[in-house]
Amino acid sequence: MLEGKVAVITGSTDGIGLAIARVLASRKASIMLNGFGDAAHIEALRRELAREHGVTVAYGAADLSIGSEAAGLIKDATREFGHVDILVNNAGTQHKSPIEEHPPEKWDAVLALNLSAAFHTIRSVLPQMRERNWGRIVNIASIYGLAGGSDRSSYVASKHGLVGLSKAVALETAASGITCNAVCPGHVSTRIFYKIAKDLAQRDNISREEAQRRVAARDMPSGRAVAPEQVAELVAFLCSAAASEIRGAALSMDGGWLAR
Ligand code: NAD
Repeated sequence: MLEGKVAVITGSTDGIGLAIARVLASRKASIMLNGFGDAAHIEALRRELAREHGVTVAYGAADLSIGSEAAGLIKDATREFGHVDILVNNAGTQHKSPIEEHPPEKWDAVLALNLSAAFHTIRSVLPQMRERNWGRIVNIASIYGLAGGSDRSSYVASKHGLVGLSKAVALETAASGITCNAVCPGHVSTRIFYKIAKDLAQRDNISREEAQRRVAARDMPSGRAVAPEQVAELVAFLCSAAASEIRGAALSMDGGWLAR
């Protein structure tokens, strides 16, 4: 249980981040949501989470691709709750194209959100975690933080960078009650996964289930995408007392992708 703890989860208005917010709220952590989206929808989400789990839920609208706003999210959460104990750097983006056609401004945008944002949030939150000698930092990287892939150079570079940052922070905090780790999922069944599978099902006149299996099986021997809730449960475990000596790890959850 995470009663009394405050968790900031970047990019938590949708997808994996929202699943993490739900699972940490179910463990009784107070939650700072962040991310883009329709204001009324986000407010409904905030109320629903608070009501369902009986915890306080706030929302910060910071654009994490801007360093000062990333740091500002930690300040806002601290002002709102008095402290921040758990930081999940989840917001991320990608651009797909061969490197020769990769626009430099897209490279900067991907690196800013996927890597530099975590530098700014971690840098801002660590002093108060050190004061209480307790903290959990979980960076949502990707299997592309551990292996290469074509036509996504900025994504692969940023996620490898995030795995490296996790190790560096884990070493700087190794003798304390603060841990920092990376989680590296393979394909996760978020909205975009279902859309790709739906398009394939229509194109090849196959069932949606078969299309989902084929999309996952391109990379994952399991032939099954990872559920967002499974990633969220791993994050919750990393926040538990049992995980206090997991430091600087890059934990893959990839249906066997890297085992080949
Ligand atoms: P998503 O696109 O479904 O959700 C992203 C969230 O980030 C949304 O809440 C969005 O509003 C928010 N966001 C986007 N830009 C932002 C910004 N500048 N500032 C603040 N918030 C912003 O993403 P997802 O698929 O759930 O992925 C979440 C993380 O997991 C990413 O870091 C992604 O790289 C990683 N990941 C995803 C998969 C996958 O298959 N979906 C696999 C491996 C890793």
